[in-house]
Amino acid sequence: MKAAATKLAFDNGGAFIQDTRREVEQYLSRGSTRLKGAILLYVKAPIALALTAVSWSVLIFVQPGLIVSMLCLVGLVVGAMLTAFCVQHDANHGSYFKQRRWNHLVGWSTDSLLGFSSYAWRVKHNVAHHTYTNVDGYDDDATQVPLAKFAPSQSSRPWYRFQQYYIWPMYTLMGLRWQTVGDLAAFKRGSVGESALRPPRGWNLVGVFAGKAFFITWAIVIPLLVYPWWAVLGAYVGFTMITSLIMATTFQLAHCVEEASFASADEMRSERRIWAVHEVETTVDFCPRNPVLTWMLGGLNFQIEHHLFPKVPHTHYPKIAEIVRRNCAKHGVRYSFHPSLGRALRSHFLHLKTMGQLGLPAEIEMG
Ligand SMILES: [Zn+2]
Repeated sequence: MKAAATKLAFDNGGAFIQDTRREVEQYLSRGSTRLKGAILLYVKAPIALALTAVSWSVLIFVQPGLIVSMLCLVGLVVGAMLTAFCVQHDANHGSYFKQRRWNHLVGWSTDSLLGFSSYAWRVKHNVAHHTYTNVDGYDDDATQVPLAKFAPSQSSRPWYRFQQYYIWPMYTLMGLRWQTVGDLAAFKRGSVGESALRPPRGWNLVGVFAGKAFFITWAIVIPLLVYPWWAVLGAYVGFTMITSLIMATTFQLAHCVEEASFASADEMRSERRIWAVHEVETTVDFCPRNPVLTWMLGGLNFQIEHHLFPKVPHTHYPKIAEIVRRNCAKHGVRYSFHPSLGRALRSHFLHLKTMGQLGLPAEIEMG
């Protein structure tokens, strides 16, 4: 097991977060506001579950023709997306219920419906990514060396110059990796990024194995009883690749874009940063005025607000964004957002292109 490296320290205070927190607490102090946010959050779980259950049941028990089968696969993808963005993400952050055990139970939808461990996710996402956002080597999401270069401090490789093209098929494979060897490799290594990942014990261990067994049963074993192996394999791989592409792209649009800042561990050690300012400046919102996307993505297009208030249900983020924006302007904190999905995707593409060329020897034009 790898020992966790020296922890990087932040300054947790500052006038910006104090003012913002005060206003957010004031906004949430009304009982009706909290209740409305909770209802809007809770209503998504049965929708996600029903969409998944109905699509799967039709495929297994009705065995329809090609067009209806394809519609059912779309239903499974949308159900998985809603589970990933609107159910497990909130629950694993602890924003669903007051008690941890109920949050972990709902968060187990990661294991049972998406096929990877919620126990490992809580370290990978809540600790490594949320604490050390865009810090090279510490934030697992920002570190894909030697496959790609996301941060300026990462070393250069000749193949990175094409990363803005090959990154998309790479994103489609991330889900398959986490469902198969990714979790187990992280448990064996004992770390995610530089954050310690203790071997699961007790109910956590039961959750890991029961989750894998449940997922394999509904996604592979039962379908094999009614369909030929090649149809099951095609549907499973297609389902996982599409959900993986959507998930990876959504998370990357918030942090791996031209407007987001990055830091190396050395930079973090040489200058103690204010945590809240670091989170805002390493994160970028997108499509804040798109209600459909905001509903579907569980507020992950409001990642600045999510990083500042991860334990607040995502249904409050559009309102909190107004408070954060106002306080950023007041305290001179850089707040960035992309008004459209096209602009956000373009910025991700251009960031990858710039990073891919950074540090490579300049080509000498002949003639
Ligand atoms: Zn999060």
